Amino acid sequence: MGKDVLKAPPGVGSGRRGALALLGTLALAGCARRWPAGLDVDTSISAASQDSRVRFIVLHYTDGDDRASLRTLSAGDVSAHYLVSDERTGAGRVRVYNLVPEDRNAWHAGESSWFGRTALNNASIGIEITNEGPLPGGNGQAPDWQAYSEAQIRAVILLVRDIARRHGIRPENIVGHSDIAPQRKIDPGPLFPWRRLAQDGLGRWYDETAAQAAGARFVATGLPDAAWIQEQLTRVGYAVPRSGVYDPATVRVIAAFQMHYRPARYDGVADAETAAILSVLPGESE
Ligand SMILES: [Zn+2]
Repeated sequence: MGKDVLKAPPGVGSGRRGALALLGTLALAGCARRWPAGLDVDTSISAASQDSRVRFIVLHYTDGDDRASLRTLSAGDVSAHYLVSDERTGAGRVRVYNLVPEDRNAWHAGESSWFGRTALNNASIGIEITNEGPLPGGNGQAPDWQAYSEAQIRAVILLVRDIARRHGIRPENIVGHSDIAPQRKIDPGPLFPWRRLAQDGLGRWYDETAAQAAGARFVATGLPDAAWIQEQLTRVGYAVPRSGVYDPATVRVIAAFQMHYRPARYDGVADAETAAILSVLPGESE
């Protein structure tokens, strides 16, 4: 991880001169880059204007147990930078595997879009969490979902905070796979604790008092139409058809939005509470 600290934008590393000096010494001693013979490269001056190529953090569940997840993510044709396993390491902690270096692409997002930016593998860090996802419902009704363990959530929070800080990631760009690929994906599912992350200062949330007031207004005056819902979903980042009707693709996007911001019901129906949250959720920050 030392390499990432060295690449941090100006300001982030202030107060860390001692650590940086130490890392610099280590780099010279152990792993200084070798340039081709005949090339005179001077790395002593670093430009002030630079930032990370990473813009997004994408959260997933693996749809399997630790063994299957690690096999797929290490040897299969998909991968992630991190796997937060459910393997206990003691003291209430779980093992986190770093499977792909942060400065390389992992293959976790697939066809994806957020605020109009596509192919997010090129600009994101992918975090998989060992979790089976939807379990077969006993009564043929809605599925039950496997819960994330407290130790996994604590690890995710520590990891996301560290990555977001080092790469300067905006709150609205900490997302689920279902947010960026709502037509194909439902992970990390309705039990992923987005609200808790937001209370910990991670990711985007909304003013709940303002949402309640907006909800009461929608109940009193009637719901906005599908075109408005689609416009708002676009404003807050989602790729959604602008058809003006609740077509199946739009319903899937609404369900993805609900899983993230109103997980108590994610049926894809644009009810008053859904419209209210949409109306107060911040768009892209500057
Ligand atoms: Zn996924």
